[in-house]
Amino acid sequence: MEVIVHKYGGTSVGTPEKIKKVAERIARVKREGYEIVVVVSAMGHTTDELIDLMHKVTDSPDPREYDMLVSTGEQVSAALLAMALQSLGCPAISLTGGQAGVVTEDIYKKARIKEVKLDRLKKELKEDKVVVITGFQGIDSEGNIITIGRGGSDTSAVAIAAALKAQVCDIYTDVDGVYTADPRIVPEARKLKTISYEEMLELASLGAQVLHPRSVECASIYKMVIHLRSSQKEDEGTYIGEAPRLTTFARGKEAGKMEKKEAVRGIALDENIAKIGILKVPDKPGVAAELFGALAKEKINVDMIVQSIHSSGTQADMAFTVDGADLKKALEVTEKAAKKLGAGGVVSDPKVCKVSLVGVGMVSQPGTAAKMFETLAENKINIQMISTSEIKVSCVVAAEAGKRAVQLLHKAFGLDKISQ
Ligand code: ASP
Ligand code: MG
Repeated sequence: MEVIVHKYGGTSVGTPEKIKKVAERIARVKREGYEIVVVVSAMGHTTDELIDLMHKVTDSPDPREYDMLVSTGEQVSAALLAMALQSLGCPAISLTGGQAGVVTEDIYKKARIKEVKLDRLKKELKEDKVVVITGFQGIDSEGNIITIGRGGSDTSAVAIAAALKAQVCDIYTDVDGVYTADPRIVPEARKLKTISYEEMLELASLGAQVLHPRSVECASIYKMVIHLRSSQKEDEGTYIGEAPRLTTFARGKEAGKMEKKEAVRGIALDENIAKIGILKVPDKPGVAAELFGALAKEKINVDMIVQSIHSSGTQADMAFTVDGADLKKALEVTEKAAKKLGAGGVVSDPKVCKVSLVGVGMVSQPGTAAKMFETLAENKINIQMISTSEIKVSCVVAAEAGKRAVQLLHKAFGLDKISQ
């Protein structure tokens, strides 16, 4: 019998009514004659509420107890969903990550999944039960409950689907697929039928919050096709995978286009960044290593880096971006390094954002970056920083220009016109 893996996010199981709706869908699929494994997130904002609760008790939580606490949200939704299924006459059992055989590294709060031992899962499936598993958690080698990082249930689902050798991992969420841009910013944005792992990884890392980047990484390692779709509708969503495999899932025009590849397939906007500049640093070997080494030591992720020659010829200016949340810490580190290096000063600007074009077709179609710069120039949007990779062009612009830039670029690259 073919096994199907469904994952339901926090909003999709946010209320008892929604849990009952999800149960109806699962019972229907079960009647079609499949083995079904379901991975759930915690209801609504439960995990955030548990963390708030924790902060009322302590400012320095022990990591083991943190995992004990935040993993409980998923137990609530898993048990309730199993009960809802049972009351529809559909045999079901809920299992914690540990009970389901999800083994993680021995690291609290952000472990990776090492393996999924299938014995218990297979036994329950054989007894014709729907198996509902808590996402976001597993157990370590000593039997401790371990969580795998915020938003980790997507990754749990992909790992479990891969272990079960499922054809596809259906991730049900409150959006109905991956769009050419955020439809709240660009109303004409189109839903993509298919998208490659590389493109999805870029979009997910660039702030498109539809999928956890690690789940895409995991899927690409195991060649697991993800079907991202709405828990409210029956329509197909977006298939994420490798081009050849995708065509067997998503037929129709857009799927065929995976071969032709438009240069740009999606536009992302990351409003959560900040820029730091360090001025007049000596232009000599070791300077970048000193500064970025210090930042790395503090676990601050640096994204774009630009160095320009100062008019003096012996000095350089450097600018880089960090996550908005890291700005304060990054400034402290940079100021310290600036003193050590004898730099002229440090400046920062939190009011910036990053607009990125993503598409694997860029590799073979030159001119994407030039067209992006032209479009921004024609509309008097100043580019503060640029970075490119084979499948991405990103520009840092003023925060207030970000949404308009996305709208203009969406139109300029004809993303509104390509029909499904
Ligand atoms: N409930 C967890 C969180 O809020 C995991 C997830 O939703 O994927 O981070
Ligand atoms: Mg989530």
